[in-house]
Amino acid sequence: MRPPNNNRRGAGRCTRRSLLWAVLIASLGVLGSVASAWAAPEIVRIRYFTGPDHTRIVLDLSQPSTYAVRQVANPERIVVNIPGASFRTTATVGVADGLVQKIRRNSGNARAQIVVDLELAAQFKVFALPAADGRPHRIVLDVYRSQNRQPRTGTVPKPEPVIRPYTVVIDPGHGGLDPGAIRNGIREKDVVLDVCRRMAKMIDDLPGYRTVLTRKQDYYPSLTRRVEIAREAEGDLFLSIHCNTHRKRSIKGMEVYFLSLQGATDREARELADKENAADLVGLAPENAGNDLVVSILMDLRMTQVLYQSSRLAEYVLASARASDQVDARRVKQARFQVLRNLAMPSALIELAYLSNPDDRRLLSKQKGRKLLAELVVAAVLRYRQDEVALALLMPKGGWTQNYRVRRGDSLWKLARRYGTTVTEISQRNNLNSAGLKIGQTLMLPEVD
Ligand SMILES: [Zn+2]
Repeated sequence: MRPPNNNRRGAGRCTRRSLLWAVLIASLGVLGSVASAWAAPEIVRIRYFTGPDHTRIVLDLSQPSTYAVRQVANPERIVVNIPGASFRTTATVGVADGLVQKIRRNSGNARAQIVVDLELAAQFKVFALPAADGRPHRIVLDVYRSQNRQPRTGTVPKPEPVIRPYTVVIDPGHGGLDPGAIRNGIREKDVVLDVCRRMAKMIDDLPGYRTVLTRKQDYYPSLTRRVEIAREAEGDLFLSIHCNTHRKRSIKGMEVYFLSLQGATDREARELADKENAADLVGLAPENAGNDLVVSILMDLRMTQVLYQSSRLAEYVLASARASDQVDARRVKQARFQVLRNLAMPSALIELAYLSNPDDRRLLSKQKGRKLLAELVVAAVLRYRQDEVALALLMPKGGWTQNYRVRRGDSLWKLARRYGTTVTEISQRNNLNSAGLKIGQTLMLPEVD
């Protein structure tokens, strides 16, 4: 309480008091910043992706954190401890991809613990990634599928080349809070999800093919995330599925877009060849990205090829629509769609039909119409793939003189991509018995000129 009867003394005390407060506040400020720097990290999300040779588990963190990892046998598992951390949810993540059974979350003892239950002993790699490109701080655990597994009993069978399935990444546009176009209560996000699920079912039933959906439910993955999913799945093809609208109700039919660099400015071309992106795309470890000049050159070569393939893919989809006689085939267009950028695989964005046109809307809203649309896109994918295989056989067989030394992070798939060939071709020419590569091993690959 302030003494009411003595202004001088009061003022003096006030000054002294404010000085005291100033010191207190300053030290609180320091404590505050220390506290925030040391605030407990939270594991916001656990994601995983099954690749052909490894399963990647990603822990999204609220802030950077230290971690400790150990492998435990009987049963086989990998344990990651993050000191002082907590979980947003402790639900177990079922994986069951033949390598990883499930991912469990244990909290307590002043740490968050992630237990990765394995089907069998496996090699693994752990690294942390700082927040970048709209993505949070991450701890990444790559568990590798063993390539040299010996059978326990009986005769040793001749190892056969491991051929990965042809992977089609299907991207249902919009989702969650973003409904896309809405006409007569029909929402684009629902239509495309249904059509994409049908496509996935059809393709997954085919031997040698598999699909990865960028979303399976009604939520919105960011465009960056969609691209990330496609890359992590090491997709061979990327299809983004949408519905169109137009002011004029009479406009109808299917339109297909592919990304083109033609007419793009130098700045955009440079952006595309951005070193980090390129490093990401050709599968180099992040620490190699800074000093590898080869990266941008490879990127240029690959993009030219990918764009050519994308334009062919787009033509096949439209031809399929034309052949169906059920949906008008409008045209193939080139555009700079965000979701098609930074993809190192042939990709197209398909506007199935117009929600604003009564005929098209009937097609889009009925089971039968959606089935038809899914069928004709899948037919185009298969035709594209078959012709791609046929074209590869027609390619001149010379020029496999380059001696390539296998580096960390390389896989047959990535090399096939980088050198414009196939896993089978590399395996056969190098007499490889399995898909396994050893660091330092020398390979014959096509010459890139
Ligand atoms: Zn759309």
